[in-house]
Amino acid sequence: MNTIHMNLKSLWDRIHTAELRFHRPPGSVKLLVVSKNRSMEEIREALSAGQYRFGENYLQEAITKMDTFGTGDLEWHFIGPVQSNKTRPIAARFAWVHSVDRLKIAQRLNDARAPGLPPLNICLQVNICDEASKSGTGVEQLPGLAAEILRLPRLALRGLMTMPPLSDDFTAQRMPFRLLHEAYSRLRAESYPLDTLSMGTSSDLEAAIAEGATMIRIGTDVFGACHGAAPVDN
Ligand SMILES: *Cc1c(COP(=O)(O)O)cnc(C)c1O
Repeated sequence: MNTIHMNLKSLWDRIHTAELRFHRPPGSVKLLVVSKNRSMEEIREALSAGQYRFGENYLQEAITKMDTFGTGDLEWHFIGPVQSNKTRPIAARFAWVHSVDRLKIAQRLNDARAPGLPPLNICLQVNICDEASKSGTGVEQLPGLAAEILRLPRLALRGLMTMPPLSDDFTAQRMPFRLLHEAYSRLRAESYPLDTLSMGTSSDLEAAIAEGATMIRIGTDVFGACHGAAPVDN
């Protein structure tokens, strides 16, 4: 078994253990493998271990990978900041966008999504701790933004995403995830058909699973530490 297979195997064990420990139904946490800055060969290895759901932050890099691996059997998720001049290729190529944080971007994605494709799955990125350096909408803006996005026929609003501050302390890690889950529950109580809480990375996936994550986004613990921006090779 190569390193990526072994890493994935221990990651599945960690996910399973966390599901049991925090009374989550087995299989309720999906794994999104974050492949930004990773080579074609690394992706090929993750694919051969049975992964098909990949997250990318940079459009050009993602397009090169999509051209290599296709979009048929693979599910590509855009998780980086969305610039308004990139909405057309993003809407054309991806199955999901986790990082929508304003209406203008949602409208542009909606307008660019081809009628022949299924609606583009959307998560609203929330700046849950109100950090000046982070993108994402505030919790207060969520109900209004969700209501507007629900009217866009080429988008399917699936849930919420957050990227909280890093912490080594488990209790501190849980707090922002709990706040995001509360915001999610309030929207669901208002009949928004949400099913996705995209939260948790390599350093805090257990805390995210404890607080109800349905999709965790993992790069480092699949591929190893990233040594700067690797060029997209072969
Ligand atoms: C890079 C990235 C991840 C993966 O983080 P790791 O710590 O490598 O697991 C998850 N989400 C987003 C938005 C990212 O940019």
